[in-house]
Amino acid sequence: MTRIVIVGGGFAGINLVKGLAGKKDIEVVLVDKNNYHFFPPLLYQVATAFIEPSNITYPFRKMFQGKQNVRFYYGTLLSVHEEDRHIITDGGRLDYDFLVLAMGTETNFYGLENLKKKALPIKTIDDALHLRNHLLMNMEKAVKTTNLQERAKLLNLVIAGGGPTGVELAGMAGEMSKNILRKDYPELGETAGNIYLVGSGDKLLGPMSKQAQQESHKQLFKLGVQIKLGVAVKDYINDEVILSNGEKISTCSLIWASGVVAAEVQGLPEESRGRGGRLKVDEYNGISGIDRIFAIGDLCCQYTDKNYPDGHPQLAQVAIQQGKLLAANLVNLIDEKRMKPFNYLNKGSMAIITKYQAVVDLPFGSFTGYFAWLTWLFVHIIPIAGFRNKAKLAYNWFWSFLTNNPNLRLIIGAKKRH
Ligand SMILES: Cc1cc2nc3c(=O)[nH]c(=O)nc-3n(C[C@H](O)[C@H](O)[C@H](O)COP(=O)(O)OP(=O)(O)OC[C@H]3O[C@@H](n4cnc5c(N)ncnc54)[C@H](O)[C@@H]3O)c2cc1C
Repeated sequence: MTRIVIVGGGFAGINLVKGLAGKKDIEVVLVDKNNYHFFPPLLYQVATAFIEPSNITYPFRKMFQGKQNVRFYYGTLLSVHEEDRHIITDGGRLDYDFLVLAMGTETNFYGLENLKKKALPIKTIDDALHLRNHLLMNMEKAVKTTNLQERAKLLNLVIAGGGPTGVELAGMAGEMSKNILRKDYPELGETAGNIYLVGSGDKLLGPMSKQAQQESHKQLFKLGVQIKLGVAVKDYINDEVILSNGEKISTCSLIWASGVVAAEVQGLPEESRGRGGRLKVDEYNGISGIDRIFAIGDLCCQYTDKNYPDGHPQLAQVAIQQGKLLAANLVNLIDEKRMKPFNYLNKGSMAIITKYQAVVDLPFGSFTGYFAWLTWLFVHIIPIAGFRNKAKLAYNWFWSFLTNNPNLRLIIGAKKRH
């Protein structure tokens, strides 16, 4: 029996496990620090109380029920020991014949300590729930204060990052402010906070087409979002966001959608790290110069694909395709057959801007508007794990978009008992 330990059950990890499930003479152990898989592209909808966290999460143990050769291990990887093929987790030691690292990325605050302490990241389910509570709590504080400056500070929102997450968050926050604020918080009258979207590039949605960039700018502007491009967030002191051009914005809510760095792995040589801390891998996703250890998804960087000489973008499709191919390659490796090199098949990218408006770039062309929005909804339902989750998400969207009034705006946080 060959034992394959996979650390990280994101898009890359679960597709690898699915590809190895049911294979004779292979034992698969999936290690994850959460007991559920989740769908990061929709985190911002959880954070803005538009959908429930359960719509985009799925327990690993349920996902692999009935798969006799798959085991789930709830734990956090602490270190890798390649010399005698084991890893150490916070729950103990695990031995492997082959190890696959698929832990993705973490939020990068670029060494800005005040941001690390006070900005609000959006990378995990916990982050999204924390952000949801934070925003709703500030609304409750805003209705109580009679100090207008204090109220503006509570209602203003600064989103750092002009990529898809920043744009989608700004659009959703704009919709909420337009459609829900007055209904839920009549005490505020006509006062609404400003939404600022700050990007250091000179365009929104940098890697997307010109059409997508212009359309997102136009739609967000129409919604009242204040877009500031070519400036970076430099600091966050006493509820003031300080921009690189010296401008200051008063806010209790700075959302950080600005950057990621590859997850930390102790025990691997420093030279295996490339740009953004990503692990350098060969064409079969083996970590360069290390025997029997592979890395897939956002965590790795592969320079061997002729269409992506600088490495692949950190996208769900890359992770999914690498997970699937590595499953086939590991079976080949064990059977002493030839492995197939990875080449990414770009299926396009998209972002939702506002209600009924999205931008879609496909390999054969780009389109925007209502049809793009429908395409976005359809494409984002398919990869959601579990039929019930897909149906619940479709229902939630239908209800929320139709009524402009979803009923998920709950401040719920586990209270610590001593
Ligand atoms: C807010 C947001 C929006 C996004 N939107 C899009 C989008 O619209 N389209 C798109 O293509 N991509 C999008 N992405 C990027 C996409 O989510 C990633 O490319 C993809 O998730 C990478 O998959 P992965 O399996 O490599 O890593 P992940 O999906 O990040 O999974 C990593 C897994 O490893 C686990 N883990 C981490 N560290 C440890 C540890 N030490 N021990 C044990 N387990 C660990 C985590 O719990 C997680 O389950 C978005 C990302 C974010 C954060």
